[in-house]
Amino acid sequence: MSSRAIVKSKKVVKSTVKRRKVSRPSTSKSPRVAAPALPAPKPSAVHIERSTKREPLGHLLVEKLLRESGFKGVVSSAAELLEKYSTDESIFHIKPQIVLQPEDKRSVEIAVAVLGKETKRFPSLSLTPRAAGTGLGGGSLTDSIVIDIAAHLNKIIEIKEKDGFAYITCEPGTPWREAEKVLKAKGYYLPSYPASKQICTIGGAVANNAAGPDSLRYGHTADSVESLDVILQDGHTYTIKPLSFKEFKQLIKGQDALAKAADATFKLIEKNETVIKNAKPKTAKNTSGYPLWSVISTSVAEFKKGKGVFDLTRLISGSQGTIGIITSVTLRAVPIAKDTTLIAVPVFDLSSASRVVLEAIKHDPINVEVFDSLTYDSAMKNPQFFRSRLPSLDYYRVLLSMYTTFHVRWNRRLPEFVLLITLDEKAIAKKGAKIEDIVNILQVKGGRGTRVITNPYEREMFWQVRDASYLLSKLLDPKKRPAAFLEDMTVPPEHLAKFFTDIKYLLKKYNVTAAVHGHGGNAHFHFYPLLDFTSRSTPALIIKMAEEFFATAIKYHGNICGEHNDGIIRTPYLSKMYSNQVLELFRTVEHTFDPDDIFNPGKKVNPRFDILSSIRHTN
Ligand SMILES: Cc1cc2nc3c(=O)[nH]c(=O)nc-3n(C[C@H](O)[C@H](O)[C@H](O)COP(=O)(O)OP(=O)(O)OC[C@H]3O[C@@H](n4cnc5c(N)ncnc54)[C@H](O)[C@@H]3O)c2cc1C
Repeated sequence: MSSRAIVKSKKVVKSTVKRRKVSRPSTSKSPRVAAPALPAPKPSAVHIERSTKREPLGHLLVEKLLRESGFKGVVSSAAELLEKYSTDESIFHIKPQIVLQPEDKRSVEIAVAVLGKETKRFPSLSLTPRAAGTGLGGGSLTDSIVIDIAAHLNKIIEIKEKDGFAYITCEPGTPWREAEKVLKAKGYYLPSYPASKQICTIGGAVANNAAGPDSLRYGHTADSVESLDVILQDGHTYTIKPLSFKEFKQLIKGQDALAKAADATFKLIEKNETVIKNAKPKTAKNTSGYPLWSVISTSVAEFKKGKGVFDLTRLISGSQGTIGIITSVTLRAVPIAKDTTLIAVPVFDLSSASRVVLEAIKHDPINVEVFDSLTYDSAMKNPQFFRSRLPSLDYYRVLLSMYTTFHVRWNRRLPEFVLLITLDEKAIAKKGAKIEDIVNILQVKGGRGTRVITNPYEREMFWQVRDASYLLSKLLDPKKRPAAFLEDMTVPPEHLAKFFTDIKYLLKKYNVTAAVHGHGGNAHFHFYPLLDFTSRSTPALIIKMAEEFFATAIKYHGNICGEHNDGIIRTPYLSKMYSNQVLELFRTVEHTFDPDDIFNPGKKVNPRFDILSSIRHTN
């Protein structure tokens, strides 16, 4: 597939910075369909315009500059490597010009320092960090230089146990599954584990601020971050962690990049405290924009009196590599809950689903997950899918469980949704409640077949289907691809039924099938419409649907980006969620950290990728 091209970038710079304008011949192909108007980047005081992003510097020149500075590792523009880095799990295909695979942290610092200098001469140069490339929004795609952090920086450094927690320090490219394995051996786990934990990395999860089922109770990955080592725009590594007011005052006495960015961020928050507080999304989960509301844990006045912390890890986590490159991560792991009860609730209509969820979340569950009938149907029609996922005997037992549940328990009817609720028995007992009573209430609320799952193979069956929901939706129609663009909407749970009713109406209107799964307790749903990317009309359809579906989420005080982050797909739509004033604060804070726009431009602020012409053409 050919590379897709880029239309424009607008970059905020301080008024003292000279306006740069670069004009190069575009290698972009004309969009094949008329481009509907996307929300334009909001005007700021001064812009740098990047009219195109192609052929800024030859590969050999970049390699020469890097090698002269001591960079170790791959610097390549080999066609097959560029193709490999042209896609992630998103709907996009964008070819980089150069791929870097630094061998060590020092080489990442060198790349940042060299690029920091060269972007002044060649503004179309930039560095986009990449880990496992499993992102669903195109966050790791670029038309400039991709720096694969996971190729070599992938080791666990240490695990320490203290006060009932374990603290794991690792390089960002460490596979999540490996961190999980060593923690499990000690009785701990990272509670924000995403469904992609078998394929993603720790650094990618921090940079996306990933979340998963147990985030209902434990929050996003950012909530587990203890400290981060981050390379900032000056090419130096800084250790970033929560600071008391005294420590913060000490930090900003310095003159380095971190001191300046911390000072400027604090002043920005202090000056705009009310606007920022009001801009905080109403949903429990959010990865849209920069969470300025989370940087100071108290009010500014209280912080100045010595309460709370100033925590820039909150800003770096989820920043998608737009303000610095993470080179080391320390995360807090929690003990694995031993006494849990799994309740499965089959619901045959939407209003029951809503009532059940609202009841379930009263009991502080560890998770409340959901998948729909299309997903279960796909599982039953594709039993061979589970063969590689389960040891042989378990495979047969799990399948037996799948079909008997359908035939015996549900009278051969597929419930519209299956809700899985994991309760913490100790927490329930502490409140003086009983599991049997909760099951009874859930039955009354509409889940008539609600029951505690005691058979381990049935338990495994339900989790297999839920964990593989996205992959199972890929099997629904081999001629189509489950498209990731509506997959991250979330609303406050009290609006679940109304929101879902509207979404069902819209899917019908567009004549599109979408399997649904997600995090019911957060009313956070992953809709993956099945679309044919070989069709010329698909890109325009995507734009039209995005407009209308996102507006529906906003109508119910929801969010277009619960955990998969903005990337290319959602950045242009942030103006639907935030006011111009708040978008300007996002741009200012990004500019504070990255004044020369070295890091991953076009994501989170200043959208510059033309969505229509960047959409892939294969399923
Ligand atoms: C089947 C499937 C299921 C998924 N389920 C979930 C889910 O349940 N929850 C969820 O949140 N997500 C989910 N995702 C999305 C994605 O897998 C996660 O967000 C994951 O944590 C990304 O990790 P990665 O290593 O692939 O990062 P990448 O995709 O490589 O990168 C993610 C972003 O971080 C930036 N980045 C990478 N490394 C660094 C670094 N060292 N410093 C700074 N920036 C960096 C990149 O530029 C990019 O913007 C799923 C994806 C798939 C395919």
